[in-house]
Amino acid sequence: MLRADPCGARLLSAFAPGDGVHLVGGAVRDLLLARAPRELDVVVEGDVDAAAARLGGEVTAHDRFGTARVRAGGCAYDLVRARAETYARPGALPDVRPGTLEEDLRRRDVTVNAMALGLDGTLAAVEGALADLRAGRLRVLHDSSFVDDPTRVWRVGRYAARLGFEVEERTRSLAGAADPATVSGDRHGSELRLALNEPDPPAALQAVHELNRAYLPEGFEPRPRGLAAALALLPDDGRRDLLTLAACTAGMDARALLAWLDDMGFAAAERDLVAAASRFSTGTPLRAARTNAEIARAARGAPVEAVALAGGDHARRWLDELRHMRLEITGDDLLAAGIPEGPEIGARLQRTLDRKLDGEVAGRERELAAALEQDGG
Ligand code: ATP
Repeated sequence: MLRADPCGARLLSAFAPGDGVHLVGGAVRDLLLARAPRELDVVVEGDVDAAAARLGGEVTAHDRFGTARVRAGGCAYDLVRARAETYARPGALPDVRPGTLEEDLRRRDVTVNAMALGLDGTLAAVEGALADLRAGRLRVLHDSSFVDDPTRVWRVGRYAARLGFEVEERTRSLAGAADPATVSGDRHGSELRLALNEPDPPAALQAVHELNRAYLPEGFEPRPRGLAAALALLPDDGRRDLLTLAACTAGMDARALLAWLDDMGFAAAERDLVAAASRFSTGTPLRAARTNAEIARAARGAPVEAVALAGGDHARRWLDELRHMRLEITGDDLLAAGIPEGPEIGARLQRTLDRKLDGEVAGRERELAAALEQDGG
């Protein structure tokens, strides 16, 4: 099973079965489900740095908790020393000490992620893991799992959506009682970003929303209407994750939205894009435009995500065609023709472009004449 995966085969050639090296977590789950693992997590009973060196390649990150990230031959490995974790208080980062493989499996989130595959092919797993995998069931390992780490609600939601698994009843009720407030906005923000980059983000957001309403703000709509159409309109230079977020938050109060995005740790540019796009989608003169120039006036300056979300034929025409149209003349031509430096140059160019969009002028000479003939007022 491991040999069939090229990055798994590399592990097998770097280590002997007795070296205390095991594939762990999501990669084992995915291999058993016959899905391609996204990255290989490796647990090491012993010295992580020495194991990283044995893999060859480049060690891109490592820390004092005994973790290392290795890139070698097109493969990425996350190495972690087998460890036990305890939580001093709800939502705190864990206290970590070296532990056994069994302890390492016990610190994990759900049973289907608490499995390790030794290089000799032996599988170590927490109780019930294989039965849960076969049944397509997500189950936390103990009752205080979401108290220790409330971000696990996000993880369970993402797995439910991606794997099509059901959430076991007790786990569902524990998730419903989880308190997201014991964890910082930044940590929730990282989880939200992961959800937005899932293969089916609305399904992941919906799953989280169903598990616990307190994880997403008032007015957040996990499955907004029109999202698929908007994504289909979005050009390659647009951000699918931010468009999705804007669609989900279009019904939110504008101020509450900004405050929430700040709390989730979005950079100012991303926050402003989402806010602009979610506003644009609600009331826009784009649909009412009658000419290309009116479409341009409605859409110009708005992020492509906003225009895609507004939708319709005009959005398509702007995104595919109109936004790429340029004049052949520039401000230098107007300066050379005697127009004084200042905002009038830009205004004349813009009006000329609008006339070009409407098919009234074509070619450099006509553009220049049109730009000069205007009175600038
Ligand atoms: P993905 O397919 O999304 O990469 P993954 O299962 O590999 O999923 P990672 O976030 O890469 O997930 O984490 C690797 C493993 O570490 C998980 O399978 C799980 O066993 C464990 N893990 C990660 N985060 C947590 C957490 N917050 N609590 C408990 N265990 C966790």
